[in-house]
Amino acid sequence: MLETLRKIVQEVNAAPDLESVLDVIVRRVQRAMRTDVCSIYLLDQERERYVLMATQGLNKKSVGQASLSLDEGVVGHVGQRAEPINLEDAATHSSYTYIKGTGEHKFHAFLGVPIIHHRSLLGVLVIQQKAIRKFDEAEEAFMVTMSAQLAGVIAHAEATGSLTQVAGQEKSESDRKFEGVSGCIGVAIGPAVVMTPLADLDGVPERKIDDIKAEITKFKQALAQVRRDIKKVGRSLAKRLRSEERELFDVYIRMLDDNALAGEIIARIKEGQWAQGALKLVIGEHVKQFSLMDDPYLRERATDIKDLGRRMLTCLQESGPALSEIVFPENTILVADELTPAMLGEVPTEKLMGLLSVNGSGNSHAAILARSMGIPTVMGAVDLPYTRIEGLPVILDGYSGRVFVNPSDDLEQCYRDIIREENEVNAGLEGLKELPAETTDGYRMPLWVNTGLVTDVARSLDRGAEGIGLYRTEIPFMIRDFFPSEYDQMETYRRQLEAFAPRPVTMRTLDIGGDKPLPYFPIQEDNPFLGWRGIRVTLDHPEIFLVQIRAMLRAAEGLDNLRIMLPMVTNVQEVEESKKLINQAVDELREEGHVVNQPLIGVMIEVPAAVYQVRRFARRVDFISVGSNDLTQYLLAVDRNNPRVAGLYVSYHPAVLKALQFIAREAHKENVSVSICGEMAADPGGAILLMAMGYDVLSMNATNLPKVKYAIRGVSFERAKDLLDRIIVMDDPDKIHMMLRKTLKDLGLGQLPRPTIPD
Ligand code: PEP
Ligand code: MG
Repeated sequence: MLETLRKIVQEVNAAPDLESVLDVIVRRVQRAMRTDVCSIYLLDQERERYVLMATQGLNKKSVGQASLSLDEGVVGHVGQRAEPINLEDAATHSSYTYIKGTGEHKFHAFLGVPIIHHRSLLGVLVIQQKAIRKFDEAEEAFMVTMSAQLAGVIAHAEATGSLTQVAGQEKSESDRKFEGVSGCIGVAIGPAVVMTPLADLDGVPERKIDDIKAEITKFKQALAQVRRDIKKVGRSLAKRLRSEERELFDVYIRMLDDNALAGEIIARIKEGQWAQGALKLVIGEHVKQFSLMDDPYLRERATDIKDLGRRMLTCLQESGPALSEIVFPENTILVADELTPAMLGEVPTEKLMGLLSVNGSGNSHAAILARSMGIPTVMGAVDLPYTRIEGLPVILDGYSGRVFVNPSDDLEQCYRDIIREENEVNAGLEGLKELPAETTDGYRMPLWVNTGLVTDVARSLDRGAEGIGLYRTEIPFMIRDFFPSEYDQMETYRRQLEAFAPRPVTMRTLDIGGDKPLPYFPIQEDNPFLGWRGIRVTLDHPEIFLVQIRAMLRAAEGLDNLRIMLPMVTNVQEVEESKKLINQAVDELREEGHVVNQPLIGVMIEVPAAVYQVRRFARRVDFISVGSNDLTQYLLAVDRNNPRVAGLYVSYHPAVLKALQFIAREAHKENVSVSICGEMAADPGGAILLMAMGYDVLSMNATNLPKVKYAIRGVSFERAKDLLDRIIVMDDPDKIHMMLRKTLKDLGLGQLPRPTIPD
């Protein structure tokens, strides 16, 4: 049964559009289950009806015609109950409704299972038989498995289909909406530009071209290059391979012949598709065909074809314009399967209006960077067929995490109004720069910034930051091809220290691993967030750690505003070892004649183990800083990067709030200052709560600093403490959120969290 399931799913995956997807499902399931009928009813949200979309066994003329309201028929009943219904004789069920013209009256046995994708009902998959009999448990289990596996494919095909319909039109009548999560608030309107990582065939966007001749020439050049490469590899391995293995190289070359793959690709280019898109489509078709073959040897050939495809793509990418030469359109909305921090730097800032990532979540590092740059961003739009939206107009709503492709004029106007309101609110906040973050009853709350990019410094100073609470040193490491030298690092760090002096600058030691790999230092792990991350990597590589510390100390010569912070610490030994290495670097530099001061040293509280050791850490260091992004992930056991569980990543979870309050109290018992540099401090409501908990410094992205200052200046410390007292005993994060919003509104700060968004 498993093999049947695998083959059906594979074949369905290979179908090019929704109609074929549904057609393959009903034909294959009917055959596999040996039933008389298999049908799919899909939910039409607008009409609020289930529509018969495909059938094997009922009257085909009813497809697209026959439909049921939400509470009609056994199909409606399956949808309402969201569970399988298995009946000996459907006609005897109280909900049974016969739809004229379908020919359904001949069938008695009925098994309907709901098709559910990410908690929303897409439709119902039904099998029927003439006999009066109940389907057995194994049949029911198979249908449930089938439906669960196919739900994602159907959702994707539905989304792609609706896009294809609108792609050719000037403006759509109904706005095509995709749900993701907020990465950075704000609204952006502009054309989609899809960015593909190198040699990722699946991610290549489909793009129309005018100069077909030039595109064919480009393709032929790439082809010739691949042929030469393969021959060269074949020759160099000739002595080490057996003759049948050597033949593989000849097979590769033959596959590239004009009457094989190459011919098909050229035919696609002649239809107006660019070479990379044509390559992706043709290779995709062949890979699917081979994957479906019964013979394991032939099935394996799919890998060869994929490999050939990747080689050709690499050549085409190398011969294409370098990223820096691409002319990006005005108001570019950059779209990627997985947005990386490095990609953000590829588009000129004045052209970059919004960011859209199919994978990742609001707490991924790309989103954190986007927030520090203030670029509206949506993450985790998992159902977006991103390779099909190149060049299409997009509205990106960074408040709600929604994306609209090819929107209507009316919707666009609504969002243009929001952009105008946003600009008005921001203009109103500009006057706050020189004013202190002081509550109405005179409590002073220091507001610092998180930085990483060179441009962050000017923006932060411009917005009145009083210090840097977190400089993410890994960011300059990520946009290079190898580890930067001590001198290079020193120069980069000096820029931050100098610009802020005499204000304090907190430099975090290299925090790689997790979702922050370095291209030149790959770490392959099954559980990267529980693996070799942060301080674990640098203590295992003291040569990397020491170079970085030396660079920091040298950069701070004569400035005396450096604080060094250690990430992902789980035990005191890590602190002791790090301090030893820092002291070693200080001693060495002094011996070399540098005038370096002992820096302040701090520990980040990012994992539950650290929460219960705050006092032990506090006795050994000068300051404590909470990384609430990771702390939330580890406390709630929710991968901060995974869009599937993004809804469970809740900053206002009672456990998170309790932990944060506990950390502040514990640090203060040792008279050590405690700050927070996670994203929670950047939320006006969160900032008020953290202030009430006693945090000594709030560090946040520069974009949100004025809003947080505005909120603090609008509340009294007494009121903030009263709010915390009420919230800390609440159980439900949603209610906590609501109470925060209501309080902000009552204080006249209602516009701060977000403007009103059209539904
Ligand atoms: C955190 O985890 O809260 C933090 C500030 O570090 P990062 O987001 O860089 O992991
Ligand atoms: Mg962290």
